[in-house]
Amino acid sequence: MSIKRRVGFIGLGAMGSRMAANLLKKDFDLTVYDVRKESVESLAAKGVMPASNPKEVGERSEVAVLSLPSQIEVSETVLGLNGLLEGLRSGGIIVDTSTIDPSIARKIWLKAKERGVGAVDAPVSGGTVGAEMGTLTIMVGGEREVVDACMDVLKAIGRNIYYVGGPGSGQIFKLLNNMLVGINLAAVGEALVLASKAGVDLKLLYEVIKASAGNSWAFENKALNMLEGRFEPGFRVWLQHKDLGLALNMASENSIATPLLALTYAMFESAKALGLENMDHSAVVKVFEAMSNMKVSHYKP
Ligand code: NAD
Repeated sequence: MSIKRRVGFIGLGAMGSRMAANLLKKDFDLTVYDVRKESVESLAAKGVMPASNPKEVGERSEVAVLSLPSQIEVSETVLGLNGLLEGLRSGGIIVDTSTIDPSIARKIWLKAKERGVGAVDAPVSGGTVGAEMGTLTIMVGGEREVVDACMDVLKAIGRNIYYVGGPGSGQIFKLLNNMLVGINLAAVGEALVLASKAGVDLKLLYEVIKASAGNSWAFENKALNMLEGRFEPGFRVWLQHKDLGLALNMASENSIATPLLALTYAMFESAKALGLENMDHSAVVKVFEAMSNMKVSHYKP
């Protein structure tokens, strides 16, 4: 009888619950933790072992995966009292799929290394659909041999796995990706408000742009949300705002002027001020609607 590999998972939200379900399908021996008891209970019903804190997850895992909102929760979970590092044995590995500041990823790598534990930053792209299908793109930073040692876990949650460099590098790639997503999304919102005022057939516009040079991931995947007024998350406005802020920090540290990023950050700041923080990031269109007092003409598909 083969011994199942012991994997821990912390943070069972929109992304984490789906990634954990895929690990379960691959027959890992899974221990999970989330501050929200309901999320743990729904997975426990499927034969997963619940833990009462991150330390306990560490004690029962060879590899511990994180999917937490921000670096605040990641730092607390790994380095805090009853944290993951208190529980993991030497040789254990932390795989952080959350999007956080590259400098915090490097700090976690260093603190883990002091205890003989490996850490890789492995932020993901592909949204909740990619998380559910196990088709995420994963941008992995860390020591090559540590990355190789947790490749089976990465392959269970993603399809395109890129080793992009040393500790923190995955986060740099991810922030550049999310900067592009945010800027493109804002551009789509702006264009659709203008299109509505110009009175064009919006359904036809969607088809034509999709087949033209103005197309983008943001347009193809999110224009319909805007046109149909569907903003259930998905990737929430406050997370997009968080990532644009981290990208702005990176720009400042590198003394690079990023005017489009700064403007897009301001649009997402406004989206938060309008109370949209828990809606899908495509709700940024509502900021453009408010600026022109012009609603995108919603149509039923
Ligand atoms: P989410 O808010 O849906 O999930 C986060 C989960 O973490 C929740 O279940 C919450 O209860 C739990 N949590 C919070 N604090 C905790 C703590 N201290 N200890 C244990 N659990 C805690 O967020 P999400 O959308 O799943 O995103 C998770 C991460 O993945 C974020 O860093 C985000 O930027 C990134 N991401 C999200 C998407 C997406 O489409 N949603 C895509 C790519 C990357």
